Amino acid sequence: MKFIYCPLCGRKLEEKYSWDEGGVPYCPKDDMLFFDVPKPCVVVAIIKENKILLLKQSYIYKNSKVLVSGYVSPDEKAEDAVLREVKEETGLIVDNIKYLGSDYVKGKDLLMLTYIAYYKSGEIVKSSEVEWLDWSNIGDALNEMSEDEIGKAVVRKVLEEIG
Ligand SMILES: [Zn+2]
Repeated sequence: MKFIYCPLCGRKLEEKYSWDEGGVPYCPKDDMLFFDVPKPCVVVAIIKENKILLLKQSYIYKNSKVLVSGYVSPDEKAEDAVLREVKEETGLIVDNIKYLGSDYVKGKDLLMLTYIAYYKSGEIVKSSEVEWLDWSNIGDALNEMSEDEIGKAVVRKVLEEIG
């Protein structure tokens, strides 16, 4: 996202030179630079023995299952977003969260931070924004996630991770 107006005071931003970043939108009143920023999201592969938790959310993909995902809130660490999104969407508690790398969604301006996390406790309680969720065999996940390229890339990393 590129800032044109100051998100704090609303005045039109000026361009200010900032070292190797070049010209950056700047508000002289608030003395703050507003860098172009993608929205950070977390994507989580939740693992329980040889199972992975898959969801169906038609507003994301019509014919494909997906992993738990969500936006990182302001003032929140990505790892806390993982715990919060997993709890909100599935009712489960996870631990041993490990970062698997990032992906960028062009056009949507999303920076996807991908994680593996292990089931710790709790029963599945489906949130209203999820149509279906359940444990699937990790070996079947790639077929069931046909449309979700980023999710499939995460599953491939999970398969490397757990061997
Ligand atoms: Zn301002």
